[in-house]
This record gives sequence, structure tokens and C-alpha cells, in this order.
Amino acid sequence: MNPALNEPDSPFDLALRPADFSEFHGQTKVKEQLLVMVEAAKIRGEALDHVLLCGPPGLGKTTLANLIASAVGSKLHTTSGPQIERAGDLAGLLTNLQERDILFIDEIHRLHPSVEEYLYPAIEDFRLDIIIDQGPKARTIRLDLPPFTLVGATTRAGKLTAPMRSRFGIPNRLDYYTTEELEHILMRSSKLLDVSIEKDGAHEIARRSRGTPRVANHLLRWVRDYALVKAQNVITGEVAQAALSMRDIDESGLDDMDTRILEAIIGKFDGGPVGMGSVAVAVGEDASTLEDVHEPYLVMQGYLKRTPRGRVAMPAAYKKIGLPPPPRAQAELF
Ligand code: ADP
Repeated sequence: MNPALNEPDSPFDLALRPADFSEFHGQTKVKEQLLVMVEAAKIRGEALDHVLLCGPPGLGKTTLANLIASAVGSKLHTTSGPQIERAGDLAGLLTNLQERDILFIDEIHRLHPSVEEYLYPAIEDFRLDIIIDQGPKARTIRLDLPPFTLVGATTRAGKLTAPMRSRFGIPNRLDYYTTEELEHILMRSSKLLDVSIEKDGAHEIARRSRGTPRVANHLLRWVRDYALVKAQNVITGEVAQAALSMRDIDESGLDDMDTRILEAIIGKFDGGPVGMGSVAVAVGEDASTLEDVHEPYLVMQGYLKRTPRGRVAMPAAYKKIGLPPPPRAQAELF
């Protein structure tokens, strides 16, 4: 799969991360809602309400958590669902918080159920019930916590437990970016990297970026090197095209794993319907990675369709991998 989508942020990513809401381009609706919440919290002098950010990797959830913290002038404490193994780990994190601090839990859908139980009273009533000892000697100590804000991020809103979902207000859903929005982001990144880029150059990179800023910035990194060595440090449309085709970056933004998924569904499962679990076995990748990272983009681009009986390859998928259109029986499923 595209390494840019699953790797932790490198110093390169961090250097390009917007430092202010005004530098965060796109996701207008989410941004506006968050700014209202931030303003309201400031006027009331209270901790910001808890926030849930949902969407595929690389769209800006962590960036927004950072921006929220700096907008309210609070300290951000960052962790992730799988990192909190026991209730004690959570207690350690929570007792370190100061009033109005922000606790950012990435991949919040992967919290252990026993940890989740502890989190509920903490976010609802700002209290923590700690059980000490076991068996007949067990007793509970109640700790009061300062009012704080939980910012949860998830690639899988559907995997959140109902009680967890209900503890947040309206979820903020991040969508894939348009090519135009990505061009804007690439222009800004190029300025920070001190490389000149023409609009056509930004366009060529943007349309191959899977609607994802993190991918766009990673492609820019390669094109920048190419421009430095081969094109006097200027990224024109032609330079970007040459650089990206040298690395076999697909014209429509699909990565190697996206293509393998389409090939498997068509070649091994007659175009579907097929469950993602079977596709995962066929391509040798984790089913949850396919569902989090690849499927949403393939559905959005019209290559795949979700049906109650499983995923079905659409005519665009057949075209993409250079096969004749599906047989009639298959076409009836679309
Ligand atoms: P997520 O947490 O959703 O996986 P991140 O917040 O880590 O995504 O974003 C990945 C990278 O993409 C960041 O380092 C940042 O440089 C860039 N990025 C994301 N969203 C934007 C945006 N709206 N404008 C500019 N850069 C962005």
C-alpha cells in the first residue's frame, strides 16, 4: 500500500503541518463548526466540548487537534487507542491534565473495552473511579478531574461503540479533498520547501494524490528532488508528469494496493459480490486496512460499489485494469 498513508508523521510532514486555522485549506464545514465551538468556549471561559473527528488517514485529523489546542490556548496531550493498554495507563494520562487541556486520542475505536468504561465518567462528569485491591478488599477511590476536552479521531466511525459515540456531539466528518484544494495545499508546501511550482505542476501532483494532503506532500517531496536534479528547481506540469511517471504513479491516483484489490475482485471473485475479508486474504493485507484506507477511495471514485451481499466491481474497475466489460449477469448487480 501507499506508505505515505500508514507511516507516522516524519519531520518532513511536521514542517508542512498548518500552524493556524487560516493555513488549513479545505474541509470548510468542519473548520467553521470547530471555530464556532472554539469561540463559544472562549467567551464562556469553559473547556471546549468534546470533539470527534472521523475520516480516512492523512486528511488532517491530527492537524485539526493541534489547531484546536492552539486556538483555545491549551496544552495538547497526544496518545492513541492501542497505546492505552490498561485502565491504569488512562488514569496516568487523565491525572496529568490541567484545566482546559486537550487530550487527543487517535484511533479511538481501538480502545480496549475496559479502558473505555473508565473513560465515560471522566468525560461526562470529570471524575475517575479507581478500583484498588482485588476480591473482598477491593475498594473504589474517586478522583475529581479538572474540566478538559477529549478530541477523538477515528478512521472507522462505524466501529465506535454506541455509548462512546453518544458521548460526543455531532461527529465531524472529513472528506477527500478536491484537486483544486490539493493544488492550494501544494502551493503552500512548495513555498515552505523553497521550490518554485507552476499551477500546472501543482495540478499534475494534486490529481494523483488520492484526495489526500499527506499523499500530495509526499509526492511533492519526490517531484522536488527530480526538479532539483533535472529541471533547474522549477516544477512545471511537464516536470511533474515526468517525475511521477518515473515512479509509476498512477494517472488516476490509485496506488499499487488499490489496483490489486480491483484485480482480485474481478479476477478471483468474478467481479463480486464479495466480502472484504475474502479480498484481504487474496491480496495479503489486513481487512481493516482495506476497509479504512482503500475501500472508501475506490467507492468514492466509482470503481467499487457496496451492496448488501458484498463489494461489486463497477465498469470503471474493468476499464482500469484493461479487461472487457463485465458479463450481463454481473452488470445487473450494479
Ligand atoms: P490524519 O491525522 O487524518 O491521518 P494528519 O493531520 O496527520 O492526518 O495530516 C497529514 C499531513 O497532511 C499533515 O502533516 C499536514 O502537513 C497535511 N495536511 C492535512 N490536512 C491539511 C490541510 N487542510 N492543509 C494543509 N496541509 C494539510
